[in-house]
Amino acid sequence: MSKVLDEVLAANAEYVSSFGSKTNLGMPPARRFAILTCMDARLDPAKYAGLSEGDAHVVRNAGGRASDDAIRSLVISYKLLGTREWFVIHHTNCGMEFFTDDLIRGLLANSLETAELGADGFRDVGKGPGSTEGQFIDWLTISNTRQAVVDDVTRIRQHPLVPKTIAVYGYVYDVKTGKLIEIEEATRAGRVEETRGVRAGDVEVPIQEQVMGSL
Ligand SMILES: [Zn+2]
Repeated sequence: MSKVLDEVLAANAEYVSSFGSKTNLGMPPARRFAILTCMDARLDPAKYAGLSEGDAHVVRNAGGRASDDAIRSLVISYKLLGTREWFVIHHTNCGMEFFTDDLIRGLLANSLETAELGADGFRDVGKGPGSTEGQFIDWLTISNTRQAVVDDVTRIRQHPLVPKTIAVYGYVYDVKTGKLIEIEEATRAGRVEETRGVRAGDVEVPIQEQVMGSL
């Protein structure tokens, strides 16, 4: 057996031995919120956001991006399981800042082995063959950390399957300190709409013009 497999199964046996009252947890998140965040190994949402089992949904992918699949999970999270507030949490020093679509497509076309990260970026050192399938994937890389949070919160806020009553907050986790830093522009973009019937991004028509228009 692999070393990691042994370690994981031993850790799980230990966890099971003190599982206790967690056996009674219900399916809907008790604290009614969800976090969309990066898969980076340095981030532990349970620790940085104070979660216990049963508290919240955590959706993770490379970058914590609001991909179609992340939105699929968030829609299920509110529609079927009742979450009411969502956090988008990216982080400093994210690996998604270190490559572009063209770069990873080129690396994958060369070989399927792990590339090396040198002083001037990723370099392919593996033997072929690779695959051109990478050209059909939008890798959702990041060129500006703050802007990516704003973009993702905005996409979620404006998605037709996301109700305006869900607050969406935007944060960056600092990998040097563990601190969550608010991206105010993102949180503003994700705020709950006060005006009923007006979609975010729509231009509000002054009341006089609405009346005049109906005459
Ligand atoms: Zn990351």
